[in-house]
Amino acid sequence: YQAKLGRRGTVVYDPATDQHTVGQLAMVTDLRRALDNDEFVLHYQPKVSLRDMQVTSVEALVRWQHPSRGLLPPGEFLPVLERSGLMQPLTRWVLRQAIQQAASWRRAGMPLQVAVNISPRSLLQDDLPARVLAALLAAELPASLLQLEITETAVMTNPERAAFVLTQLQSRGVEVAIDDFGAGYTSLAFLRILPITALKIDRSLIKDMLDHDADEAVTSAVTDLAHRLGFSVIAEGVESQALLDRLAALGCDQVQGYVISAPLPPAALEGWLADWQARSSTSVETAAAS
Ligand code: C2E
Ligand code: MG
Ligand code: MG
Ligand code: MG
Repeated sequence: YQAKLGRRGTVVYDPATDQHTVGQLAMVTDLRRALDNDEFVLHYQPKVSLRDMQVTSVEALVRWQHPSRGLLPPGEFLPVLERSGLMQPLTRWVLRQAIQQAASWRRAGMPLQVAVNISPRSLLQDDLPARVLAALLAAELPASLLQLEITETAVMTNPERAAFVLTQLQSRGVEVAIDDFGAGYTSLAFLRILPITALKIDRSLIKDMLDHDADEAVTSAVTDLAHRLGFSVIAEGVESQALLDRLAALGCDQVQGYVISAPLPPAALEGWLADWQARSSTSVETAAAS
């Protein structure tokens, strides 16, 4: 937690932040227990290819099944985890869990690539590549079925270190995507030095695109430049069919968002996927018959 420091470095008591601090300390205790008791769960959100509407990859998104507060989204606890130094154990858990899930889907004849979000601090951990590769080996999962999503901020904090870590992973076949692109200040020209395969365009950039020509121009330019640099382009947070159609027209490769599906628990995703495949094969037959 952060105490306010006075001019001489003394701690100044500030009643306005006190409540906040007490609440956070309680939450840190809660989070430690949650890690010990396995209270976290992963939901998976499909990414759809705009070329054939097939789903070949999903993103793992963590939730906290809190014993009294119910299912909590990451926004409610990740910032506290990061500040209290508990992000590393969570990252390790998420990686192991997602890799095991991908391996189990693969054994069941569903070879889905799973994307895992890696926090800025976790990206800079020396042992990240070794841990990832060990987990892949233990689960007997081909590295190409794992993608890591990292943010621009993470890369900008320490570009050389990030490039070093990512190159080790990429040389073994793990894919790397830049998440939330457009929410920060990275230039695409800078990203070309990184071993990345995909760019995820942040929802903030695309959400008003249908009403704002300038937003569409930026998305269009980003898509073209990303393609010229050899990256595939994923749009995130797509909520309407109209927006999906426009992104397809701009040449975007994949979309993710509520218009396709919200993140789902593993069993629900399996059911959703079966329905999705049944529906898409029906529409192909309908198209062929007409
Ligand atoms: P993100 O990686 O950019 O994930 C996309 C977020 O947008 C997810 O929120 C997802 O549920 C939400 N979303 C998906 N489709 C739509 C849509 O159509 N409209 C809108 N408005 N939102 C949509 P979520 O699950 O709350 O996660 C928030 C962020 O927390 C993630 O953003 C990611 O940065 C972080 N996060 C989630 N899981 C993990 C994790 O396991 N490790 C780490 N380090 N960070 C994680
Ligand atoms: Mg992500
Ligand atoms: Mg994102
Ligand atoms: Mg985002």
